[in-house]
Amino acid sequence: MEKIEKNLWEIYNDTQLKELEIFNEKYKAFLDAGKTERECVTEIIRQVEEAGYQNLYSMDSLKAGDKVYAAWMEKSIALFNVGNEPLEKGMNILGAHIDSPRLDLKQNPLYEESGFAYFDTHYYGGIKKYQWVTIPLSIHGVVVRKDGTKEVISIGEQENDPIFAVTDLLIHLSSKQLEKNAATVIEGENLDILIGSRPLQGEEKEAVAAKILKLLEDTYHIEKDDLMSAELEVVPAGKARDCGLDRSMVMAYGQDDRICAYTSLAAMLDVERVERTSCCILVDKEEIGSVGATGMNSKFFENAVADLYEKLGGFSELKLRKVLAHSTMISSDVSAAYDPMYTEVYDKKSTSFFGKGPVFCKHTGSRGKSGSNDANAEYIAKLRKVFDENTVSFQMAELGKVDAGGGGTIAYILAQYGMEVIDGGVAVLCMHAPWEISSKADVYEAYRGYCAFLRDMK
Ligand code: MN
Ligand code: MN
Repeated sequence: MEKIEKNLWEIYNDTQLKELEIFNEKYKAFLDAGKTERECVTEIIRQVEEAGYQNLYSMDSLKAGDKVYAAWMEKSIALFNVGNEPLEKGMNILGAHIDSPRLDLKQNPLYEESGFAYFDTHYYGGIKKYQWVTIPLSIHGVVVRKDGTKEVISIGEQENDPIFAVTDLLIHLSSKQLEKNAATVIEGENLDILIGSRPLQGEEKEAVAAKILKLLEDTYHIEKDDLMSAELEVVPAGKARDCGLDRSMVMAYGQDDRICAYTSLAAMLDVERVERTSCCILVDKEEIGSVGATGMNSKFFENAVADLYEKLGGFSELKLRKVLAHSTMISSDVSAAYDPMYTEVYDKKSTSFFGKGPVFCKHTGSRGKSGSNDANAEYIAKLRKVFDENTVSFQMAELGKVDAGGGGTIAYILAQYGMEVIDGGVAVLCMHAPWEISSKADVYEAYRGYCAFLRDMK
């Protein structure tokens, strides 16, 4: 079969076009429900439990046909659908990350200056700082008190909620600022969010900050020191929306990489019966190097597989290594879609386009592929066969021109087990911007591709 080169919108039949719209509605709802890694894990657990998944850690034994999830520290999660084949033959794994670039509150966030109260922030992940000023922002996260009780916070998403902002200099006084390099035109230390301007009555010193503290105490029963043990994340306020007069695109925060997380999750839930065990891992901390106990470099995933194996009655250290070595994986992350406004950074022959389906990258990395995984030619041939036999469109691409920049993913980490791994994913415009843009057709086609992979990869 020849590779499909047509735009997906021209290929789909009426049934598929209807499915595409329904799928994207669910995708947008997922983006709205999960604006942080914690919120994503909560939403994923809700969806998988509804689909009959059970908590791996609460199970004594398992058998073929069982479906389980293993969440770690409320920020990462692995799903397993146990197949009929022995686990030792390996799993089909879909992986993606659920953390996204944002502004995090510092641990001593609250301060007052000249009648304004602010939350001090330190940005998370790679951002163009100038994109984060003068847009409505919301605060999401948790505050944990000394007694272990936890307050879950989400302010700025409901119609009547207040929102927050980082200020920018008025154009009238910006002649000096506009001469600065774009990387420093807004300084990282100036990305503090404005949270108040009203003094607490009768308070003499720092009355505006005092008013904020009182509000926190009255509304959330949080004291100033509780903010030390908090994870509060500032993200763009508002919902995912259709983009374009033809409504062919989605504009939303956090599509890197929830676009791949959601399509992988949906495939995992919809491919119910499998021969080869299927697995989906959705992890935290990719944007800062997959570090920490909940990042891909953590042993939590290996431990979960060991636990699964033990409960299937077959664990040994050697067998565990075989499971991982014999597995195949699509490590999904967003790719840079060709943007006609910025042609100079793309090699048009090796770039991804909207409407052409999910993207495979043999390599990622930068400066001569540094930091890359390398998908074997033999594995790519198998993937081509699975995708072609299921008439799923896909494209082979790299992220930008040689030496234009680059980026890393979680692919190389799983490849350390000796398993076959390829970087896959969905192309987006404005990656890492507060609002990113994707093609609804690519979202739907990625889902179709992931279903084919879980069902048919041997
Ligand atoms: Mn990213
Ligand atoms: Mn990513």
